[in-house]
This record gives sequence, structure tokens and C-alpha cells, in this order.
Amino acid sequence: MVIDSHQIEKLLKEEKQPSAEKISTILEKAAQGKGLGLREAATLLSVSEPLLLQRIFKTAGEVKEKVFGKRVVLFAPLYLSNYCTNGCLYCGFRNTNKGMDRTALEPSQVVAEAKTLEGMGFKRVLLVTGEDPRWGLDYIIDCVKAVYKNTGMRIIHLNAPPTDTDSLRKLKEAGVGVYQSFQETYHRPTYELMHPTGRKKDYDFRLEVMDRAMEAGFGDVGIGPLLGLYDFRFDALASIAHSFHLYEKFGAHAHTISIPRLRPAEDFALKEVPYTVTDEDLKKIVAVFRLSVPTAGIVASTRETAEFRSELLHVGATQLSAASRTNPGGYTRGEKETLEQFSTTDHRSLIEVMGSVIDEGYLPSLCTTCYRVGRVGHEFTEKTLSGSMEKLCQANAILTIKEYLSDYAQNGSREMLEKAINMALNDVSDPAMKKALLDKIKELEEGKRDLYF
Ligand code: SF4
Repeated sequence: MVIDSHQIEKLLKEEKQPSAEKISTILEKAAQGKGLGLREAATLLSVSEPLLLQRIFKTAGEVKEKVFGKRVVLFAPLYLSNYCTNGCLYCGFRNTNKGMDRTALEPSQVVAEAKTLEGMGFKRVLLVTGEDPRWGLDYIIDCVKAVYKNTGMRIIHLNAPPTDTDSLRKLKEAGVGVYQSFQETYHRPTYELMHPTGRKKDYDFRLEVMDRAMEAGFGDVGIGPLLGLYDFRFDALASIAHSFHLYEKFGAHAHTISIPRLRPAEDFALKEVPYTVTDEDLKKIVAVFRLSVPTAGIVASTRETAEFRSELLHVGATQLSAASRTNPGGYTRGEKETLEQFSTTDHRSLIEVMGSVIDEGYLPSLCTTCYRVGRVGHEFTEKTLSGSMEKLCQANAILTIKEYLSDYAQNGSREMLEKAINMALNDVSDPAMKKALLDKIKELEEGKRDLYF
């Protein structure tokens, strides 16, 4: 895996003021939901003219609905440990951040955290951990197994430091659905500056981890730049190039692309965020990801405000974390007791996030189906490109809201959820799917659970 930085820089320099005609041609192609080339993505990233930007945003919103329907997947992160041997200048977990309360949760404590999330209604959890060999592979596998054994979590995803192929294979065998690791910045000189010490210094070992993960059997991997470390156009285009590489080599695009924007952390070693990324820039990045790699889930984190996360849904974001705590033990022990990786801005509960997703005209979803039925990797990419995921995602979203409604909803939210289900059912145009969906809803009402297509 090589990121051709000369090619990326050349493409970004080529197009400073693209004409409206050129953008129209690119958007016509993008609207089909089959993706774009790197040059076309670079052209869109160079747009700053407000009217052209609006057209990009509108097309991205339409492509989102074409490939995944109105559903927005909700999940929660669960931090295992904030010990870390790396010295990343922008991170609250950096090893020089002395005097801070460090914790590595015991597997039993991880189970308690996951049970708390399950009690809120979550079915999907993302385990997150720092890099420290004392809490390495065996520890992570113990945590994964303990959560599956002792809670009703249906799928566990993992954001953990890069490792070798054998270890990745063991993580896959333990039941991890999606393996995530973020390159932070694809710009090698900036990467080296930002990662002065620790194993994370090794740019190539990190960059190549997704190849190793796919060789180890992961169909689904999650990538992402940490926006603000370097010129966002470079890192956005490099992220797209990374996904193209995975598609060419393994037949599967990145399953998710996350879009964290750098925010000050405790012991922030940088004087300021090196490269400002405005709200408008972030919307453009999301839209260009959506149009270039339409099969990818685009994940907006709680680093962003509630209002802005709602805006991102309209330009192509498809996944939101909710109720997030970024400190180990944060769900059972409270927000500030142990060190957070970064401060969160959106503190809303799961039902509050569900409500705002519905208010924006979308459908919250707690679906976990694809990872569990093997609809992953190449199969997932091809099904999504062919347009056949939209109706499955929409139907599964309806089933998961119905289940949430039966098991968790309080009086104040029941009416809102019922209305959302009825409106979504009205949108189902395929009579066979509608009948199958109504049958499954009846089964849920009779007490069956975990139904899906
Ligand atoms: S059907 Fe698959 S892609 Fe759609 S929401 Fe469920 S798990 Fe995600």
C-alpha cells in the first residue's frame, strides 16, 4: 500500500476554479451512485463557490438515500483503556500526559459498561483502546469475548492499534465485526512530526494495517483522517485513494470512513490546530466522500455539535455515535472521573439522537445484520453499488426501531417512534417487501426479537 503523495498534490494543484459545466458533468456521474475517480474527487474538493457547493451537497444527500435509504445507524463507543505508549502531540492519552488518572478496565468492568449501553437500547458497540503491550491482543480478545458472553450486544467493532496479520486473524475469530484504525494524516512529513515517539511512529506499519486486516479475513475495515493535522484536501483525497486501493486489491471499499476533526485535548501539545477545517469544509469532505465512495458508511462523531451533526446527515453522513463517553468507565462511573481522549460536544442520549434524526427526515437504525449474516467485504460493496442495499437497510431500520419501541421507549417518545415507523412503512414501494416487513413486525409484537432481512 503506497499513498502517491506527488499524484495527490498534482491533482489538487491542477484545478483551482472548476467551471460550473465541469462540476455539472461530475455530479451527473456521481448521481448514479457508482462513485468517482480520484481526479473528479480532487476537482470537487477544490470548489469554494457557494452555489456550486450547494449543488455538491444536494447530490451527496440524494446519493446517500439512493444507496442506504433514509437510515442512520447509531452506535456507542466504549473505551477499554487510556494507557498508551505513544506520544501523539494532539491526543489526551499521550504518554507524556503525566499525573492523569489512567485506567484499563477489567473485562468484568467492560461488561458492566456494555450492559449500561445495552440498558439504553444499543445493540452495536465500538471498543476503543490505546496502544500499550500490557493491554494488548489477549486483553482485547478477553474483553470482546466477555461482552458477547454476558450482554445482548449483537456486534462488536474495534478501534485498536495496528498489529500483525496473525493477531488480526485472532481478533476476527473472536467476533470483531469491523476493524478500525485511522491513519490520522497521510502526509508523511506531518505524520512524522505529530508522532515523535512510540510504535505509532511507523507510518508504513499503520498505513498497511488494512491490507493485513483484509488478508486476515476482515471483510470490513474502517479508515479515517484526523482532520486539522494537515491540509484537509490532501488527507481527504488520500483517504479516497486508500479506499480505492482496497477495492482494487480486495474487491471491497473501506466499510466506513470517519471524519474526526481535531479538537483540543487535555495536555494538547500543539499551540493550536495546525490546519483549520471550517464547518463548510467538513460538509464538503463528507459530500465528496459520499460521492466518491458511495458504499462507505460515513461516521460523524460527538466531537461535533448536535446541530452540526444534523447538517452532516443531509450531505451524506450515515452513522452517528450517541451518548458517547470517551473515558474508560465513563458509562458506569461518570464523565470526568478518568482521562478522556478528547472532549465531546454532543452529550445527547440515544433517544434524543433518535428524535433529532427523525426530525431531520431520516430513520434511526440499530441494525447489525450485515456483519452477522456475512454480507461483508466484496459482497457488501457490490450489493451497495448495484443499489440493492437501500431496501434492506430501510426495512431493518424499521424493525430495530420497532424492537426499541417495545423494549426501551418511555411514554414521551412512543408516539414519535410510532409515527416514524408508519411514515417509513409508507415509503416501502415493493409489495412483497412490505408484506414480509409487516409479518416481521407482527412477530416482534408477539415477543420475537432480533428479526432482520
Ligand atoms: S442492512 Fe447492513 S448496511 Fe444496512 S444498516 Fe443493517 S448492517 Fe448496516
